[in-house]
Amino acid sequence: MTTPAPSSRPPRAELHLHIEGTLEPDLAFELAARNGVGLPYPDPASLRAAYEFEDLQSFLDLYSANMAVLRTEADFADLTRAYLTRAARAGVRHAEISFDPQAHLVRGVPLEAVVGGIAGVLERSEADHGISTLLIAAFHRDRDPADALDVLERLLAMRAPIAGVGLDNAEVGNPAAPFADVYARAEAAGLRRTAHAGEEGPAANIRDALDLLHAERIDHGIAVVQDPDLVARVVAQQIPFTLCPVSNVRLRAVPALAEHPLPAMIEAGMLVSINSDDPPYFGAYVDDVDDAVTAALGLTRDQRAALAAASFRGSFLPPERVAGYLADVEAWRAAGA
Ligand SMILES: [Zn+2]
Repeated sequence: MTTPAPSSRPPRAELHLHIEGTLEPDLAFELAARNGVGLPYPDPASLRAAYEFEDLQSFLDLYSANMAVLRTEADFADLTRAYLTRAARAGVRHAEISFDPQAHLVRGVPLEAVVGGIAGVLERSEADHGISTLLIAAFHRDRDPADALDVLERLLAMRAPIAGVGLDNAEVGNPAAPFADVYARAEAAGLRRTAHAGEEGPAANIRDALDLLHAERIDHGIAVVQDPDLVARVVAQQIPFTLCPVSNVRLRAVPALAEHPLPAMIEAGMLVSINSDDPPYFGAYVDDVDDAVTAALGLTRDQRAALAAASFRGSFLPPERVAGYLADVEAWRAAGA
């Protein structure tokens, strides 16, 4: 298979990306060896072969187990650098990267190592990779909200360079309401707010994220199509939805790409972007997602450009930077017209 020229991809923002979910099997083994940590697989190929999931939980189990190899600041830096290198090839020009502080604190990894490793690389990302970045601290909705609040206070106290907060992990049975205080604190501190909702759970979870958490953006949110009133509201307010169609199929939230609600969401006038979520686990970086969605749904160049434009519009960047990126998307669209 030949790699298409970069101009075959629109410039885009990636808004839904978990840095821990970018751990490639090769790097996992390299870090395991460096840190003297065992992995329950003989080699990277066997680990990759295990990436067959029944649902969100079966993925989260393996994903969490692999995190054991991430121990030091250098590990987090290597992980971040590897993602940015690959993302640049995918046409990513701006990335809003989530990390899960609690996943590392519970393993005894200091917050300073996690934040220092990621942020140190992000600081130079524009110069080194041509990608502007923002960092989002995501909290686990299946853990005690008091712990999330404590971690948020620690991040604020250490002046961690975070632009926003998110909410992720197991959605079903873990409502957003108990996290209202965490989000209120984030809002008071001037942080932007996104939240996973309506991935495996119902549309009501999206309403809760908007009303109770004051989320400005929804991650996944595919269940919105079950609720026409909610669709009308998010269209009117142009709430960005960060879709991950390949992830949805791999975790069986959607049976096949051809059945993904993306076209219905576009048709309704929603502000939707396509993203990779956890690329090696789902076998697709965002350029692969673009290819897969384009093929399955028969998207035109104009529609691909519209999705890329929506990725910048849905970002937490200031309007003047968004405008600059939108001009680049328009140039890409016009070049193929
Ligand atoms: Zn996600």
